[in-house]
Amino acid sequence: MSAKASLSTWPTPMEPMPRLAAALGLNGGELWVKRDDLTGLGGGGNKVRKLEWTVGHALAAGADTLVTTGAAQSNHARLTAAAGARLGMNVVLVFPGTPDSAAAGSGNLVLDSLFGASVHWSGETDPSAMGAVAEDVCEQLRRSGARPYAIPFGGSSPLGARGYVEGGDEIRSQLPAVDHVVVALGSGGTMAGLIGALGEERVLGVDCGAVAEPAEVVAALATEVTGRSVTASSLRVRLDQVGPGYGVLHEPVMEALNATARAEGIVLDPIYSGRAMAGLMAAVRDGEIRPDQRTVFLHTGGLPGLFGHTQTVRRSVAALGSFPSS
Ligand SMILES: *Cc1c(COP(=O)(O)O)cnc(C)c1O
Repeated sequence: MSAKASLSTWPTPMEPMPRLAAALGLNGGELWVKRDDLTGLGGGGNKVRKLEWTVGHALAAGADTLVTTGAAQSNHARLTAAAGARLGMNVVLVFPGTPDSAAAGSGNLVLDSLFGASVHWSGETDPSAMGAVAEDVCEQLRRSGARPYAIPFGGSSPLGARGYVEGGDEIRSQLPAVDHVVVALGSGGTMAGLIGALGEERVLGVDCGAVAEPAEVVAALATEVTGRSVTASSLRVRLDQVGPGYGVLHEPVMEALNATARAEGIVLDPIYSGRAMAGLMAAVRDGEIRPDQRTVFLHTGGLPGLFGHTQTVRRSVAALGSFPSS
C-alpha cells in the first residue's frame, strides 16, 4: 500500500533566470529557478510535496478530517484546505487571534473559504500555543464522531520532509553539478528534506523568523530524514534577512520582489520566497555564492500571501509608475 497521496504532476519545471543573473553580476545561465510555486494544487507552493506524505498517511490511518495550524496567512493551511477538498476530507484550520485581527488581510483566507475549510480562531496570540489548541480541537472532533488527523505547523514532520527528499532528487536529475540550492527556511521541513537528497554543503537556508532556533529545528528533522547525525553547526543558514521579524516587510525583500518581477516576470512573496531571494542576493554580494557557480533558487510559492500582506500591497500600489510621468 502506497501511503502517498497524489496532489500534483511532477516534476515541476526548472528554468534559467538569465536576466536576473546578469542584474546580480552572475554569469548568464548559472542562475536557475525550480518552480515549486507551480505545484498543481490550490494555488501551488512547497507545502504540496509535504502534504502528499502527511495526508497520504492520514488517509491510510482512516482519518476523515484534517486539522492544522499556522498564521492566518499560512500557505500551508491554505494548501491543507485544498488537499482536503481534492480528497473529500473535512478541514479545520486553527489560527491565532480572532476574525477581527485578520480582517485587514485577505489573501490566503479567501482561498481557505473557497476550499470549504472551517476556521477555529483560538483567541491565543502565542504561536507556540497553537499545537495544544489543535489537540483540543481534535479531541472535540473525536467526541462528535469524526476521525481527525493533526498535521504539524508547516507540515514539517520527518514524514512531510520526505517530500523534499524527492524535490531534491528532482533538482539533481534536472540539473547536474549544482553548487547551491537556496531556500526559504520557515518551519524547516523543506530544507531538511533537501539536505536528505543533496547534503549539507549545497543547501543554503535563508531564515524567515518563523521559529526561534532555525538551525536546530532543521538539524533535528534532517537527522531523522537521513538516519545519521546532522548537527546545527554543519548547516548553512543565513539569519540576515529576518529584519524586524516574521511577517514584517524588510527593505531588502521589497528590492528582491521588484528585481525578480522586473527581470523575469516571476512573483515572490514578502514573508518567505522574497526573503530567500534577498538572502541569495546578499550571498552573491559577500562572496558566499561566486559568479562561476551554479545556483538554483527554490521558488516555494506564496503568491496569495502577497495579497494578504497590507504593507507590501500599499507599497507596491504607491510605487506604480504613471504615463506620462510627472
Ligand atoms: C512554508 C513556506 C516556506 C518555508 O518552508 P518550511 O518547510 O516551512 O521551512 C517557504 N516559502 C513559502 C511560500 C512557504 O509557504
